[in-house]
Amino acid sequence: MKNSKKSKLNSRRRFLGSVAGSVLIPRIGSGSVERVEAGAMVAQEAPAKLAIEDFQPKSMLVVPEHPTPRARYPVIDVHTHISGVFGRQRAADPSAAVAESAFKQLDQIVSWMDQLNIETLNNLTGGYGETLKRNVSDLQGRYKGRFLNCVVPAYDKLREPNYPAWQADELHRAKEAGAIGLKITKTLGLYLREDGKDGPLVKIDDPRLDLMWEAAGKLNLPVFIHTADPDAFFTPTDRFNERWEELRNHPDWSFYGKDYPPKADLLAARNRVIERHAKTAFVGLHVANHPENLDEVSGWLDRYPNLRVEIGARLGELGRQPRRARKFFEDYQDRIMFGTDATPNGKEVPQQDLKPAMFQAYFRFLETLDEYFDYAPSPTPPQGRWKIYGIGLPDQILKKVYHNNAARLLGLKTI
Ligand SMILES: [Zn+2]
Repeated sequence: MKNSKKSKLNSRRRFLGSVAGSVLIPRIGSGSVERVEAGAMVAQEAPAKLAIEDFQPKSMLVVPEHPTPRARYPVIDVHTHISGVFGRQRAADPSAAVAESAFKQLDQIVSWMDQLNIETLNNLTGGYGETLKRNVSDLQGRYKGRFLNCVVPAYDKLREPNYPAWQADELHRAKEAGAIGLKITKTLGLYLREDGKDGPLVKIDDPRLDLMWEAAGKLNLPVFIHTADPDAFFTPTDRFNERWEELRNHPDWSFYGKDYPPKADLLAARNRVIERHAKTAFVGLHVANHPENLDEVSGWLDRYPNLRVEIGARLGELGRQPRRARKFFEDYQDRIMFGTDATPNGKEVPQQDLKPAMFQAYFRFLETLDEYFDYAPSPTPPQGRWKIYGIGLPDQILKKVYHNNAARLLGLKTI
């Protein structure tokens, strides 16, 4: 008894609390004891410092909760990376034995899709050439209508003199092989360099790509384009950065400094491409990569009739501005598509690991007016320490966002 009392007194973990009379307490961090007058705040059971990763506050709000296990309408998710289940192994060895475990995962994914009311997943990174053909036969052959594939550019040929015409022809071949769109990753603008590693970055509106954009329009292959990254990845990783924890966990995700262009320059170059190729349909992934500023995205949608957007991995931004986001969905209800950036093994994009709970956060955001809930099924929010609010879309908008906007763009049946 005596010992426990003593250890309590010696503990540096003290909270402030009010006491009657004067007591002896140790001054935090000093080990010394001082007299505190009656009514003063005294310390008890609080750490002087708390590591940010140890801070796991539990919300004390008592508010209605409407978990949403299943989407109200059949979903077309236009932004996934499903061929990741096959990994690199399948490319090296296309034998049936190697495919076996991947197909088991696919079976699991399809049973989740049925459970969640997901009709179709669009595999954006389907590769090109033989890889694309294999992904089409692996994904579309086994499960008719449940998966789609997009082609990606062959940047490894960019510096060859006939590249522009070859790339345009390659889109023809991709369409014949079964591709339904063209995917542009953030590599264009942030990683792709003239001579492999050290040359200058290739600009998004590089004229060598003009024939490709043009061909995509002629072939009715929408361009799913990811440009730049969250605003916070283009500012210093300091105590003012709202995604400090995420950047601390992934320092290579920061594009601040070095020879990276400012984010606004990257978006402006992308917009010049959209403007220059008015007959090509563009889908700006991640809310055209600027969900932090929906006024600006609205301006782009007004200016470029050939632009649509997708919402993948941006619940954290949309859901913390629910009134503005709701207006955005009302204003552009015919041009917003459902997407998640779902990745099967969670290694590429850990916060969007393909699991039912990840999809259910999207359903809850879109369908309910719930307040202050997690945008990702994880004890620590992966992007930042905030919660989101539902926007409770009416049925006719939900139907468009979940299904019909993508169906119309991809020539599928509407509901
Ligand atoms: Zn993605």
